[in-house]
Amino acid sequence: MTIIRSKKIFFISECLVNQNIRAYGVGNMKGEGPVADLINLLVNNGVGLTIVSCPEICYEGLKRKACGKEHYNNSEYKKLCNIEAEKVVKRYKLYLDDNYKIGGFLCVNGSPSCAIDYCYTGKQGDEKTFVPGVFIESIQEKLKEQNLNLKFIGVRMKSLGFVLSRVKEIILDMK
Ligand code: SF4
Repeated sequence: MTIIRSKKIFFISECLVNQNIRAYGVGNMKGEGPVADLINLLVNNGVGLTIVSCPEICYEGLKRKACGKEHYNNSEYKKLCNIEAEKVVKRYKLYLDDNYKIGGFLCVNGSPSCAIDYCYTGKQGDEKTFVPGVFIESIQEKLKEQNLNLKFIGVRMKSLGFVLSRVKEIILDMK
């Protein structure tokens, strides 16, 4: 029996495959379950997904309200993020060691935890600031410590068309 493995993977934030876990007060990106356009694109191209667990759920559960980065910018949450970030980087290294093609990490722009390009700050969480979220900062630190690079692609509903085009290009480059 011939076993075919594409060895193509993306890391992906958990809520992109299950929008039901987003904080209360945050709208869905698209649809009611996964962000189907994105997931279908990956699945239809033989790309495997490594789902990165939602750090906010580990910290305060499902019944949490949407808030700004300040809420999560504390030592207890950062410690949790560091532990989760270690796991991500460890898995990344395993993929690299076995010659996987890693498209990047599909994370969530706007999130106080999982944003790459911008997130919301301020007491009400309504000030757009061009900095990553707390969890992504932890991952970036761990990557830097080990001289590793990982591409982060921030997903947001308004820019979904752009993100899909970018992901398509990345998948083509993985062939
Ligand atoms: S913390 Fe990350 S995984 Fe959890 S809901 Fe927010 S963006 Fe999604």
